[in-house]
This record gives sequence, structure tokens and C-alpha cells, in this order.
Amino acid sequence: MGRPVHIIFLIDALGWEIVESFGFCRNLLHRSAPLDTVLGYSSAAIPSLLTGELPNRHGAWAMYRLAGHESPFRLLRFLPELPHPLERRIRLLVKRMIDRRDLVKGYYDLYDIPLRLLADFDIASRTDPYCPGSLPVESIFDGFESRGLSYRVWTYRTPEAENVRDLLSSIDSSERILFLYTAELDELMHRRGVFHQEVERKLSLYEGFVESIIKKAREAGRPATVNVMSDHGMTDVTKAVDVWGEITRNGYRLGKDYKAFYDSTMARFWCEESVAGGIAELLEESGWGRLLSEEELKMYGCFFEDGSYGRTLFLLSPGLMIVPSFMGREPLAAMHGYDPLDRFSKGCLLTNHPSGALPTSILGIKSFLLGCIEGGTR
Ligand SMILES: [Zn+2]
Repeated sequence: MGRPVHIIFLIDALGWEIVESFGFCRNLLHRSAPLDTVLGYSSAAIPSLLTGELPNRHGAWAMYRLAGHESPFRLLRFLPELPHPLERRIRLLVKRMIDRRDLVKGYYDLYDIPLRLLADFDIASRTDPYCPGSLPVESIFDGFESRGLSYRVWTYRTPEAENVRDLLSSIDSSERILFLYTAELDELMHRRGVFHQEVERKLSLYEGFVESIIKKAREAGRPATVNVMSDHGMTDVTKAVDVWGEITRNGYRLGKDYKAFYDSTMARFWCEESVAGGIAELLEESGWGRLLSEEELKMYGCFFEDGSYGRTLFLLSPGLMIVPSFMGREPLAAMHGYDPLDRFSKGCLLTNHPSGALPTSILGIKSFLLGCIEGGTR
């Protein structure tokens, strides 16, 4: 019998509700569990899954935080107001410049952030969480390194189909762990919605991939443990709400009276107390969601003393989406980043590992996987 091989397949946004409703991998991976996620987007959930720690411990929450004077975008402050198509072109140039200087190793995008407002912000985490030593707390990759476990990683940097082919051919290699992250399902569901036929087709493709892994490992005489998981779920969007417009209509000018970052499901504000009070009142009356209290943020592990992720935070109710936002001007078919306790927010774990209690949260994934690898003779 050959050396065991462990496959870790991280599918961004494969929510528990999706797994259940499509019966995903039901006949291949017999043990499964819903996983609680963290408040925020993948910029928070991926480091949490990889480290087993909440955002206030690993430091990465939203993709953007208030920068003070040292924003890499600070010169954009002096740009005049430009027509949207021209802004888009300049944004592409700015991104190209940052990429050329290799300032940011992890995933980021400038989306539709107004250039002059971008000058106040910085990319919160510039490191690549899929590399060892990149986070301030131990990640699963640090765990592999310190244990001398050989591994290979494929991420969004290379096309999914190529990654899948490469991983399958690596089953014959001497690597102990094969780790694949994909964001294609996330992107598809944003465009099409959670229960679309194309989503079903994509899931069939992934099932075929898992089946091929198991078959290939059997042929190679290597016992294979396959763990499929996700960082969060996905919710169909039912209504777009204009939070930004509502605040403007009430006389508060963005960039002058207040600073804000309008994400898709969350708005974060920085302003003087009197303005903050007025904005908070408007948000509360809107019926679109709720303000997050300091206690709640602490409970979610998303309270940051320096306020760089926001002083006043407003979270939308599941299914609603801020349009326009800094993320875009059009609504999407589905979104995530709602209350982590909502059932559509939950991620999942599916495994053929026969023993050990399954985790109940993405925070338990790291120790579960290390336990599989160290303890398993499969
Ligand atoms: Zn997404």
C-alpha cells in the first residue's frame, strides 16, 4: 500500500443549503456538517478557516480599511471628479501599477471604488494567506511546514480546469497533501443565483472531479482522504437598496460630511459624532438591516479598537444588497456577507475520513485537517 494522500478542496461559497438541496457528493463523501462562518466576506473567512482564529486575532476583516496618511492611493485625492468610464480606465491603470510593484500578494480588486475616496483607504491585508508565514498567527500551511509535511497548493491565480488536471496528475507524485482553492462557483452564483441550472452543472463537474480523485488514488495504490469545504454560503438577492442615495438625499455628502465604505451588504462609516447620530437614525428607520453594536462585533471577533474598519457599522438583512455600492452599480443575483447565523450563510465540510468529531465552524477546520493527516492511516 502506498503513502496516504490528503486532498483538501476549498470551494468558495459552497453553502450548506446548496450541498443539501443538490445532494452534492452524497454518495462519495459520507460524512458532512454545516459550518458556522464569520461576519464579513472571504477576506475574513479564508484567513479564519486557514488559521482557526477570528478576524481580530489574524487581523484581516474587510478588504479595505481606513488608511490615515499612508494610503498607497493617497495621490488620487487630487483628481478632479471624472466621468465613470474614465474613472474605470484610471482604476485599471492604478491596479496595474500596484501589481507591477508587487505591493499586494493576496487577492484584491479596486471594484468600483470612487478614485478620490479610495485615497482614504488601504488594502487591509497585503499578504497571501495561502503562503506559509503570511499571517500573524499560525495557518494550516505553517502547520504543514513545522510538521515536515509535503504539500502543493493551487488557487485562483491559475485557471480552475488547469488546476484540476494538475492535481489529478499529482496523485502519482510523492506529495502528502494536495490543496485546491477555487472561486469559480462563487462567481457563477453571484451572476446566476444560488439554485440556477448552471450551478447544478458546475456541482456535477466537481462531483466528477472528486470521483476521479478517488479512482486515481485507488489505481495508484494510495489511500486517499478527501475533504471538501467552504468558507461561507450564498444567499439569493431579493431586493437592491440605495443606502448611499438615502444618506445623500438627507443632506450628508460622502467625502465631505462623512467617510464611508459601501460594501455589498455592509456600510461602514467614519464621521463626527453629530453626523454619525443622524446617519445612524436614518439607517435604523430604513428597515433594511441593523447597526452592529460594539458587543455584537466583539462576539463575532470583529471589533477593532483603532476603528480602522469603521466606527458605525450597518449590516443588511439577508437577501438585500446595497446598489450602487463601491463594489458595483448593478445588483447581483446572489450575495454573501450577511448575518453569519443565517442558514444561507453557513459553509460546509464533506469528508470520507471515517473518524473524529466533525467541526461545527470554519474555525475548527484547521485542527480537523491536521488531525486527519497526522492520525489517519487512510
Ligand atoms: Zn463572493
